[in-house]
Amino acid sequence: MKISSNVSLQTYNTFGIDVAADLFCHVASLDDFRLLMATDEYKLNKKLILGGGSNILFTDNFDGIVIRNQIPGITYQTLNDYEVLVKAGSGVVWHDFVKWCIEKNFAGIENLSLIPGMVGASPMQNIGAYGVEVKDVFYELEAIDMQTGDLKVMSASECGFRYRESVFKHALKGKFMIISVTFRLANLNNPKTVYQTKTDYGDIRNTLSEMNYDGLSIGEVSEAVVRIRTAKLPDPAVLGNAGSFFKNPSISFSAFETLKLKYPLIPGYPSVTNKDEVKVAAGWLIEQCGWKGKVIGHTGSHKNQALVLVNYGGANGKEIRELAKKIQQSVWDRFGIEILPEVNIY
Ligand code: FAD
Ligand code: NAP
Repeated sequence: MKISSNVSLQTYNTFGIDVAADLFCHVASLDDFRLLMATDEYKLNKKLILGGGSNILFTDNFDGIVIRNQIPGITYQTLNDYEVLVKAGSGVVWHDFVKWCIEKNFAGIENLSLIPGMVGASPMQNIGAYGVEVKDVFYELEAIDMQTGDLKVMSASECGFRYRESVFKHALKGKFMIISVTFRLANLNNPKTVYQTKTDYGDIRNTLSEMNYDGLSIGEVSEAVVRIRTAKLPDPAVLGNAGSFFKNPSISFSAFETLKLKYPLIPGYPSVTNKDEVKVAAGWLIEQCGWKGKVIGHTGSHKNQALVLVNYGGANGKEIRELAKKIQQSVWDRFGIEILPEVNIY
């Protein structure tokens, strides 16, 4: 096990923030992790598990050990005539996993195509896009207790999934390393399996028709999602970002109705977590406050999607955090709505 000192994290986070970790190592198996646990470097230092670094903002050097996850492998077994259980190592790249499932004709995650990062982070914030969340197809995960080394199998209810949230961002934050995740997917290799692709969200249907697709196959839906995302979102390899910086807030029906009188175009959708609330598009709120496309120093809000904060080159994490605070304040001042970061800030 090689543990390196003073390692730049610039290429390990999609914001491209140039900070360093006091200590840094890769783990490629559960055994690796257990070996690491026996070292003084592990025992005596603060720890951070790192996947693809696509949902992280570093505001300073990390004075501890960064553990970069590279646990590989995908296997599957039949659950019943119509479903399979697919287990992926937490270091598998998420989009590679989606493509693997599509090739095997296993359905359920095609709407989650092209989300950056690794499988192990997918339960962290219950990743979601185009009307599908990981919780919809989650079966169980294996995680190692970072203090005791015990391996635990956790069900969906133990993970406490909510909208872009899980127990791993709260009560169990920094306490477990996720080793593998198992998903329950529809097996389309059996012609009797009943499965309906989800094409009624955002631009999917329009894009499918532009492509002359009927959208009945999971491969077509995946291609459409890839096309929309590629056209709209900045590629982190070109322009540093961590996707949506804020979560969409949920507010009461009455607060929404009041706002609608003043702002008839305010977009609201039923909250998936609370039936008495309305989910408001944070990107719209930010845009109304005049931030969309604005450049401030080395950073700014992206021209196509105000919710995405970007590093135009040379930004540090504190600068991005300051911009985020200003945006939060202006949304609060104008709409009386608190928007909270989705990105994990260190
Ligand atoms: P990291 O950023 O490396 O880590 C995120 C957090 O999880 C950290 O706190 C880290 O310590 C912890 N962590 C990571 N791996 C483990 C593990 N194995 N065990 C325990 N803790 C772990 N998200 C969405 O939900 N939907 C989207 O549509 C979406 N689109 C995006 C588009 C772009 C262009 C970008 C840049 C980001 C987008 N994201 C989206 C955010 C991000 O891609 C996801 O949250 C992704 O799951 C993060 O994975 P990661 O491996 O990069 O995690
Ligand atoms: P969009 O289509 O411009 O829509 C704006 C917002 O409205 C989205 O945040 C979405 O909420 C909501 N919305 C749109 N149609 C909806 C519907 N039919 N029912 C309920 N809510 C609806 O969004 P976008 O920015 O292009 O993103 C498209 C999808 O990719 C979204 O699902 C978004 O979450 C996901 N995405 C996520 C990230 C990230 O980093 N988390 C980054 C890029 C894209 P939801 O966000 O709740 O879906």
